[in-house]
This record gives sequence, structure tokens and C-alpha cells, in this order.
Amino acid sequence: MKIYITRIVPQSGIETLKFEGFEVVINPEDRVLTKEELMVALKDQNYDALFCLLTDKIDAEVIDSFGPQLKVIANMAVGFDNIDIAEAKRRGIVITNTPGVLTDTVAEHTFALMLAIAHRVVEADKFTRAGKYTNWAPMLLLGNNLSGKVLGIIGLGRIGSRVAHHAVKGFEMKVFYYDVKRNEEFEKEFNAVYMPLDDLLQQSDFVSIHVPLLETTKYLINAGKLKLMKPTAYLINTSRGPIINEAALAYALKNKIICGAALDVFEFEPSVTPELLALDNVILTPHIASATEETRSKMSALAATNIVEALEGRVPPNILQN
Ligand code: NAD
Repeated sequence: MKIYITRIVPQSGIETLKFEGFEVVINPEDRVLTKEELMVALKDQNYDALFCLLTDKIDAEVIDSFGPQLKVIANMAVGFDNIDIAEAKRRGIVITNTPGVLTDTVAEHTFALMLAIAHRVVEADKFTRAGKYTNWAPMLLLGNNLSGKVLGIIGLGRIGSRVAHHAVKGFEMKVFYYDVKRNEEFEKEFNAVYMPLDDLLQQSDFVSIHVPLLETTKYLINAGKLKLMKPTAYLINTSRGPIINEAALAYALKNKIICGAALDVFEFEPSVTPELLALDNVILTPHIASATEETRSKMSALAATNIVEALEGRVPPNILQN
């Protein structure tokens, strides 16, 4: 069996594939290949599986460049909005992702962002480095507590519910949530309240987004929704960029319609709306919510295990059902 990996990934995945005796070909350049480069790399090579990343756009043309022996596409990510799932399924190709192993890490990063924006950590760091700290001052860089505040979670799946857990157990926050499905067991355990999106936006001090990017979630947060939020509220996004209309968010931050935001993902990733770069009330991280040594290693191994299982005729642990 022959596998193509679109970029250098943690060794755990490569070893898992090699252990099975598979031939592994890795794009040697540590950068995203363009669609044309990827198609050239795949053409007439008879790969049985593709190990890819969220930065690779896998559409019908890319799938065509493999030829008919392609059996599995394994994305090293939970989200799979970069793959034309309908097209792959139409051709009988198995698609897999890597859920679960990154849940704790993304929940931690969500809290890193929430704490950093509320306590103005990045602003304070810049202030100190600039030599502006001359005296302790009672009104210097005042932020806001998380403790006792309301956290509104949009999408109470694996990551959203882990964030809710930390909020309730760690910070005694009150959790409101919105999802397409209710989870009454969770509501009982965490004293969480299910409500429509508009109510959640109106009543929350912090809003954290954890839905997948789908047609129904693109621009879920637009100018109208931002206006519903409290002027003291913070918006956190570690899911996917296009869920927020970034121009509308920049306007809302600049005009103090909301107090602050912290983003790990961007509408036009890797580009960031230039207005955001000029603002102090937003924190920007480069899509690193799952980026710890342990978690990226587990994601790589899991993507490889999905390939092994599919190619050896078993059902992979993370086959996508939709
Ligand atoms: P999950 O499938 O467990 O949870 C998603 C939740 O969203 C589910 O409860 C689902 O019912 C809900 N949902 C789906 N469509 C909805 C809609 N239209 N309105 C309201 N709720 C809706 O997924 P997860 O493992 O918690 O991951 C969530 C997302 O986080 C992923 O899809 C991925 O895009 C993103 N993610 C980002 C990073 C990062 O590095 N920043 C890392 C991992 C995951």
C-alpha cells in the first residue's frame, strides 16, 4: 500500500504507517502545496490513501488526480470543511478525521484566550516591554473577572462541553448553551441552561463558539448578532473562521459594540482582516488551539490508524457518517 502525506507531520503517524509495511511518501517542503502542486504530486503515483491537513483543499479535481485506487482520505483535524465529502463518498472513498484526542487541548486554549482577553494579558505584556511600567497604579489596565460570570457556549459537542466543564468546575461560571440538539443530562449535571442563540447572545458575558463550519453555520455571527451582545461582552472563537463575519466583528470591536474578542481562526485564513491587527481589544493566535506536543502526536497517530484500519479492510475508528 502506498500513502501520500501532504506535509511533514509528527513522527507517530509516519511510524504507524511504516510499521504496517506501507510505503510512505511525504511532501518534503514544510509548506502547504498549492492545488496544482498537489495534483502533480499525486498524478500516476497509484496512492491508496491520502493523509492530509485542514490547509489542503481536497475537491473533485484533486481526487481525480489520484486515479481509481484511492480508498481513504484521512484528515489530521476534527473539522473536515476542507474536503468535498459528497464527492468522495460518491466515489466510495472513506473519509476520516481525528476527534477526541484534541478536545482537552482546544478547551485549554479556549480558556487561555478567555483569560488573556479578560485580564488584558497581551496588552499588559506590550506595555511592560515598552518600558511603560513606572509605578503600580490602582486604575492601570483594569480587566474583568471570569468567576461568577455567564458563559454562553455555541455548540455543546466534545469541545464545547469540556469548556463548559472547566467554566463551571474551575471558575464557578453559569453556563448557557445553544446547539441543534439539547443535552438534558448535561444540563442537570452542570446546571446549564439551553436557550435560543439570540437569547444567549443577549445574556452572556463571554460567548465561545464550538460548532463545525457548515452551510448553516457560516456567518452565524454577523453584524445583527453582534449588536445583540452586551457592550461588556467578549467573543471567543476556536472553531472555524467563517462562522464569524470578520468585517462585522472588526466594526463591532472598533466601535465598542462588544468589549473584546479572542480568535484562533480567521475568515480568510491565513490572512487576518487588517482592521483587527490595529485593535488592542482583540487577541489573535494562528490556529494553534490543538498545538501541543502531546496532542499533535496523538492526532498524527490517529490519522494513520484510520488509514491502516481502512486499508486492511476494517472500519476505521473515526469514519465520517454524514
Ligand atoms: P462536535 O461535533 O463534538 O461538536 C459540535 C457541536 O456543534 C455538536 O454538538 C453539534 O450538534 C453542534 N452543531 C452542529 N451544527 C450546529 C448548528 N447549526 N447550530 C448549533 N449547533 C450546531 O465537534 P468538536 O470536536 O467539539 O469540534 C468542534 C469544532 O471545533 C470542529 O468542527 C472544528 O471545526 C473546530 N476545531 C478547531 C480546532 C482549532 O485548532 N482551532 C481544533 C479542533 C476543532
